[in-house]
Amino acid sequence: MPGLVFKDWCVPMSSTATSSSQSTAPAVTVHRLLAGQKALVTGANSGIGKAVAIALGQAGADVVVNYVADDAAAGAVVEEIEKSGSKAYAHQADVSSEDQVAAMFARMKQEFGTIDILVSNAGLQRDSAFHEMTLAQWSKVLDVNLTGQFLCAREAVREFLRRGVVPSVSSAAGKIICMSSVHQQIPWAGHANYAASKGGIKLLMESLAQEVALKRIRVNAIAPGAIRTPINTEAWNTKAAYDELMKLVPYGRIGEPEDIARAAVWLASDNSDYVVGTTLFVDGGMTLYPGFATGG
Ligand code: NAD
Repeated sequence: MPGLVFKDWCVPMSSTATSSSQSTAPAVTVHRLLAGQKALVTGANSGIGKAVAIALGQAGADVVVNYVADDAAAGAVVEEIEKSGSKAYAHQADVSSEDQVAAMFARMKQEFGTIDILVSNAGLQRDSAFHEMTLAQWSKVLDVNLTGQFLCAREAVREFLRRGVVPSVSSAAGKIICMSSVHQQIPWAGHANYAASKGGIKLLMESLAQEVALKRIRVNAIAPGAIRTPINTEAWNTKAAYDELMKLVPYGRIGEPEDIARAAVWLASDNSDYVVGTTLFVDGGMTLYPGFATGG
């Protein structure tokens, strides 16, 4: 199969090798599966979005690096993509703003001509005990995590429908990958706003996938488990926290942004042409009810 060639295998990290920044994911070679395609990744100057944007670029796509704050970090991602020979530029926009999202897609059309791949990744948490949660905390999370996905997907679908399939580019008229979470399935006390946003993404993704499949638009989601990024630093940056986290991960290592990026490249490519309306869990087995591993 073209695409992912494992150079070596990584032995799952023991819980003693914990919070170092050394990647626990195996090295892989990415082929230029996405040559000629135009991609937009939201929240692409940090964590998972950054890794996805770089991997799409390495796979041959030209990439818009969306960000909401930190020009320098976005610029660094652009530079990294350009090293692989693909084009890239950074675009600042708040995905929860209808006007800013429309302007971002209008510029992409001017600069790259069209869009083939949308990775709706931007997301945040505003954690709180439920009885203390403010409306502002609730609304912020829903606005960015769910409404942001609606606004970006709507713009992308409009362009996919206008342009249709270009067989020399892809067998699909367009691909949307929604960044969800294991918390579209696993309830999360103290994070009701976040879990509600991810549960919303699940049925947004599935309903949209059903609606546009006949137009050859593929809509899917990735549900990451615990991935080593700034959003959840306190869950992995001490040995005690990492050991606690590993009780939830049968595979015995934390996820790396690259683990998600490789899944995104596959979902964006024609290698996954018959994958429609699916959530791909990339979670080291977190959704396998690990508490039942020793009985139950
Ligand atoms: P992160 O904080 O490193 O990245 C989030 C990105 O979203 C940042 O670039 C941030 O600036 C951007 N963002 C926030 N608000 C935005 C807005 N209004 N407009 C545009 N961009 C905005 O965290 P991450 O872990 O890389 O998270 C990426 C996605 O993955 C999120 O949707 C998150 O819910 C999801 N996720 C992460 C994990 C994990 O363990 N790290 C697990 C499951 C799901």
